[in-house]
Amino acid sequence: MLLIGSHVSFSKTQLMGSLREALGYGANTFMFYTGAPTNTKRSAINNIFTRDAYELMSENNINLKDIVCHAPYIVNLANRNDEDKYNFSVHFILDEVKRCEKLGITKLVLHPGSAVGVSKEEGLTNIINGLNRILYPGCKVQILLETMAGKGSELGSSLEEIKTIITNIENQDCIGVCLDTCHLNDAGYNMVNFDAYLDEFDKVIGISKIGCVHINDSKNALASHKDRHANLGFGTIGFAALNDIVHNKRLENIPKILETPYIGETDDDKSRLYPPYKFEIEMLKKGEFNENILKDIRSYYTN
Ligand code: FE
Ligand code: FE
Ligand code: ZN
Repeated sequence: MLLIGSHVSFSKTQLMGSLREALGYGANTFMFYTGAPTNTKRSAINNIFTRDAYELMSENNINLKDIVCHAPYIVNLANRNDEDKYNFSVHFILDEVKRCEKLGITKLVLHPGSAVGVSKEEGLTNIINGLNRILYPGCKVQILLETMAGKGSELGSSLEEIKTIITNIENQDCIGVCLDTCHLNDAGYNMVNFDAYLDEFDKVIGISKIGCVHINDSKNALASHKDRHANLGFGTIGFAALNDIVHNKRLENIPKILETPYIGETDDDKSRLYPPYKFEIEMLKKGEFNENILKDIRSYYTN
């Protein structure tokens, strides 16, 4: 069965609000941030919202194990020049793991980190040490390291860097990978030959480590190291390649999550923005590009 959804908000009624938004898009999975991805302010998990969400999930045949949480991207495990900041990052991610456990969520996506001023090797060592402090024995959450575009001093843009981190993690049950098609393209992996990429991934890391796939087109060329997401069929990867990835049998039971940009009122007017997910999910279910998708999104949300 195709497991497809998008990132959704968590703000008002927590998991219940995320689920309702996802159901509105025709999704059977989703990804959320427990708060703004750009800050570390978090409110306590409300068990009533969680219980209500479980009920609505079972009515809609949605499995808790397919739902994904994304850690904020301002915490950075790669740099340890400021020991207080580094310890804060470790504790914040540990708290995020605990929040996931409380919600029953087992997949937590994490950007490995940016070396900023230290060598790659030192950055990777800092990440490994941090993760080994976070992933305690018996932990019920799997941290999924996201493949990155390699912007600036970002680590995790090559299979080898991800492999270095993973092989040095003590609690192997709690570590995995989240592929991001835009990031992979920008890092230099051609998504048109996705099976070749999977073969290489399997050789270097092992395909069973893949726990989530972010489906995004890219505004930039192969190996550009930029990281700007585009709507499906509006970027350099193209709809056909992304549709093949989504339907690839080797990743059949892995959740696919859209993180494509919202659509403006016109191509230039971004004063009002509409989520594209309902229509992008529809295209992927049909396996067919919709030439009128922008028009359809605008008229759906203005009528
Ligand atoms: Fe991410
Ligand atoms: Fe992503
Ligand atoms: Zn990105």
